Amino acid sequence: MAEKFDVIIVGAGPAGSAAAYSLAKMGFNVLMVERGKYPGAKNVMGGRMYAYALNRLIPDFWKEAPVERCVTHEKLTFLSDKASATLDFQDEELLEPPNSFTILRARFDQWFANKAVDAGATLISNIRVDDLLWKDKRVIGIVAGTDKLEASVVIVADGAVSLMAEKAGLKKFLAKEFAIGMKEIIELHGKTIEDRFSLVNGEGAAQLFIGQCTKQIPGGAFIYTNKTSLSLGIVVYIDHLIENKVEAYELMRDFNSNPVIAKLIEGGKLVEYSAHIIPEASRTGLFTDGLLVVGDAAGLLVNSGITLRGMDMAIASGMAAAEASKLALEKQDFSKKSLSYYEQLLKNDFVLKDMQTFKRSPEFLQNARLYSLYPELVCRLFHRLAVVKGSKKRLFDEFLEETKGKKIQIIRDLIRGLRAL
Ligand SMILES: Cc1cc2nc3c(=O)[nH]c(=O)nc-3n(C[C@H](O)[C@H](O)[C@H](O)COP(=O)(O)OP(=O)(O)OC[C@H]3O[C@@H](n4cnc5c(N)ncnc54)[C@H](O)[C@@H]3O)c2cc1C
Repeated sequence: MAEKFDVIIVGAGPAGSAAAYSLAKMGFNVLMVERGKYPGAKNVMGGRMYAYALNRLIPDFWKEAPVERCVTHEKLTFLSDKASATLDFQDEELLEPPNSFTILRARFDQWFANKAVDAGATLISNIRVDDLLWKDKRVIGIVAGTDKLEASVVIVADGAVSLMAEKAGLKKFLAKEFAIGMKEIIELHGKTIEDRFSLVNGEGAAQLFIGQCTKQIPGGAFIYTNKTSLSLGIVVYIDHLIENKVEAYELMRDFNSNPVIAKLIEGGKLVEYSAHIIPEASRTGLFTDGLLVVGDAAGLLVNSGITLRGMDMAIASGMAAAEASKLALEKQDFSKKSLSYYEQLLKNDFVLKDMQTFKRSPEFLQNARLYSLYPELVCRLFHRLAVVKGSKKRLFDEFLEETKGKKIQIIRDLIRGLRAL
């Protein structure tokens, strides 16, 4: 008879590896199945991971993990057709303890999955899981090609387009709930990066862009500094992209040729291009009999405009799924009721709390004025402040003039923004 595992995990992204590592450390017999040639081979993200979640699982992980730079410089740039205005925030406290690191997924995911293997988990790469194995309306394993593998619990960690969550009847794909992210990695000398982003001693920068870079389509652009490369890209809501009849590659091309960006990437060599979807507002059911859903597969992601948090949510949910599986294995009860402990753990921790706190954020961030009126307004005000052509008005008068006929709308947006973000 084929070996039966305590837990099978579908997908070796951060959610899957966090679950596998936790369960292997607890002494369970865990199998992780990954469709990529190796973990991280196909995985995409902007490039910044908030550190606290992984730090709970592997204290001081940055001393051994392949992190790129610790982010100490946060920048937000408003882009209009002709101008740009940047808020530049630097804080030594972002360094100690480290708040966030830039990472490259191909390296990071391999390291994390190998940590799970070192702890005792089994990893099979280059195998796609095609289906779930059922018995008496309970999930009892997975199907991969002609192989059928059994487990007491299956943890679904297969990312945003979760085929397995759909097969379990827990997810439906609706375009309006997803954004698409395009990303390039551009190689540059480390010293050039530090000079261009005013960094010293291996520090890192995260720069977000809003406005003209998405042709006023809801979304934004980013640049993260790695050791010897830049991760840059654009994230836009899929249904708005279709509605505006704009091709994703056009946005990327125009972003790269914007004079503000062109200066930052000048002389660099494009070494990677990828695209992936992001579950901005796509929650699924979290469990059913014999099965738990974690990370992007469950739509556990918070975008509050400035911070996009998928990695920390994925890691924390993987850890919680391991904890819930442990209890189920101890009780030998793999029913929905028993596995609902997973949801309880997510509610007690930050994952579902933060999802609840920022539940208005996806709707607010689809307000087109955020990407047209406001970047334009910020740039116009800076223009009026900067230009001297004889007699000048006070800032307040300039503001009143620039916002003529729009004040009520602006106040409404401000209130909605403060409640959402
Ligand atoms: C452009 C972009 C920018 C982003 N920027 C950030 C950021 O800066 N910070 C942040 O925290 N988050 C960011 N995110 C979100 C973040 O990438 C995700 O939230 C995170 O990767 C979720 O991890 P996961 O393990 O749930 O899923 P994934 O990382 O998607 O991993 C899923 C794994 O499952 C495997 N898999 C899929 N189907 C199967 C199958 N049938 N059989 C076997 N294996 C399978 C995949 O190959 C993959 O390895 C970004 C996302 C995108 C697209």
